[in-house]
This record gives sequence, structure tokens and C-alpha cells, in this order.
Amino acid sequence: MMADYASAIRKATLEATRLQRDLGIQAKVVHGSGRVDVYDTIARLGVPLMFTRLDGLLGAYYREPTPGVLVTTQRPLSQQRFTAAHELGHHHLGHTPSLDDESILRRAPFQARAGDDLQEVEAEAFGAAFLLPRWLLDWHCERQDWTDADLHDPALVYQLALRVGTSYTATVWTLHRYEVFDRATARLMASLQLKKVKQKLLRGYEPENFRDVDVWLVTERDADLRLHGGPKDLFVVRLPEHSGAGYLWQVESIDGEALAVVADAREAADGESIGGPTMRLITAEARDRRAGELRLAERRPWQPAAPLKTFAVQYSLIGAEQQGWYRDQRQRHRQTLEAA
Ligand SMILES: [Zn+2]
Repeated sequence: MMADYASAIRKATLEATRLQRDLGIQAKVVHGSGRVDVYDTIARLGVPLMFTRLDGLLGAYYREPTPGVLVTTQRPLSQQRFTAAHELGHHHLGHTPSLDDESILRRAPFQARAGDDLQEVEAEAFGAAFLLPRWLLDWHCERQDWTDADLHDPALVYQLALRVGTSYTATVWTLHRYEVFDRATARLMASLQLKKVKQKLLRGYEPENFRDVDVWLVTERDADLRLHGGPKDLFVVRLPEHSGAGYLWQVESIDGEALAVVADAREAADGESIGGPTMRLITAEARDRRAGELRLAERRPWQPAAPLKTFAVQYSLIGAEQQGWYRDQRQRHRQTLEAA
């Protein structure tokens, strides 16, 4: 039976790779925001995708009268995406209809246990491989200058998970699948309390609660990236500051209704000599489901016209999808309803 699981996982992973190749997804992702758009994929396959309240379920795949996918509105963005990728797996692998509850999150992808349903093991592996394929891991590691050894740090795995838009735990098990670390390390990492990682990043700042909030560590490596977060997320922008030469980072443009600066600090850059750059840490907290750009400039207060450096990131704080058809399908379904 375990041999069946191993081959099911292999098949599902291959099918995820094949679908990405057939749809040219890699080129889109690496020229876009660095994450796989699973909703767009479902729409491109002509499968209706609806977000709605599902009592006791995270998602569902149905085949009658025609195939379709439902995803709960009651979960954060990463879990909605993970559920959608799982349902896409059911569709693409030709599975029978499926009603999926919490257990799809509890089950570790690629880690089947005796008694697990083969179809569920396949959908799980497909979903994880689809959201975080090896080439996407490599792309982020190159951009961020992370090595496999660096990824033994749960704080970095968490930052990777935010950027690829999947849950921390699924990311841990996918990295294990790619042999970044062994099973014992994966277990240890998956059991870690993320709240501690968030607290360390925030250096004393306390949001109302930690559960629905993600904390992004934003560095020079994220320049011009689009960060997809939630309406309560926090961004700790950490940039080297040449204060010895009189240059200081200033927030140049911020949408006050989307983000508010809640903390501002400096720390000595590690291993730097005296007089070298310090690190500036500006913490901004989301206020609303809005999208925009955060722009900073490093300049001398007495020479404001000549910045030494500028830094910008785009953000979308839309978070979880709300009730309704997936946005790219709304028009079509409205027409269908009007025609009926
Ligand atoms: Zn399922």
C-alpha cells in the first residue's frame, strides 16, 4: 500500500508540472509577482470557481452538471489558495467529486499514512507541487540570496511561504520533498509556534492578535515586488542606512488609509565596522483591504533633492477572497444568468 502512495504522489507531482508547462505558467510567474495564480489556472481550464460560506468544509469539487470548484470564504488567503489547488488537483487528475474538510490542512503533503484515501493523497501532493514547484523555490532563493542551509531557519521558511502564497506548514513539507532538509527537521519546524517568529520580527510591537496577522520582513531584495497580504498584516521594512554620511530613510509615499507606520528603530548592521551603515527598521501596519505602493527615499535632510537611494514595494492587502464568483468569471456568469 505504501508503494501505491509513493507512486500516487509521484504521478500527482508530475501532472502538476505538466499542467504548468502546458499553460506557460512559469514565464508568467517569474515576470509577475513570484507566485502561481491558482484561481486564474482554474478559470483558464473553463472550470467555474466560486467562493462561498461552506459549513464545516474548506472546499469542494463537483462534476454535475459540469465540473466546478467551491472554496470557503471563512479562511485566510493562504488556506483558500491551498484549498483551490487541492480542488484543481481533483479536477485535473479526473477524480470523483470530493467534499474537503479540515483534514486537508492537517495532512502533511507528500506524507501519506496507512489508511489515507489515495485520491486525497494525490490531490494533496498535486496542490503543494502546483503552488510551490521546484523552479519557484529556486527563483525566490536566487532573488533573496537564500541557500538550502539558510532554509533551516523557520523565520526564512515563513517569509518564503508568504511570498509564494501558501501556508507555512505546507511550505515546510514541500521543502522536505525537495530534500532541503530531512523528515525530523520538517517535523520539528512544522510543530513550531509561528507567533514566536512574528514576535521576534516585531521587536516589541504587539498587534491586536497574532492569529490573523502575517508579519513580512521586507528588505532590498524585495524591491519592486508585489506583496499579497491581508488587511491586518504588518510590514517590517529593514534597509541599510548610511547615517554616518548623514543619509536617513524617509517614507516618501504612503497611503494612510491602507498603511500606518507604527514603529521606527535602528540597529547596528551585523559585522560592520564603526561608521558603517546601520539598519533602519520601519514597521507599517495594514488598515484596510487596499492595494498600492510604499515608497521610501534615503536622503540628507539638508539636501532633500538628491536621494542616495530609493526603495519601493507594491502591496495588495485584499487578503481572503469574499463571497462570489472568481472575479475573472463574474461577467460570464452574470451573462449566463441573464440569458437563462
Ligand atoms: Zn480532496
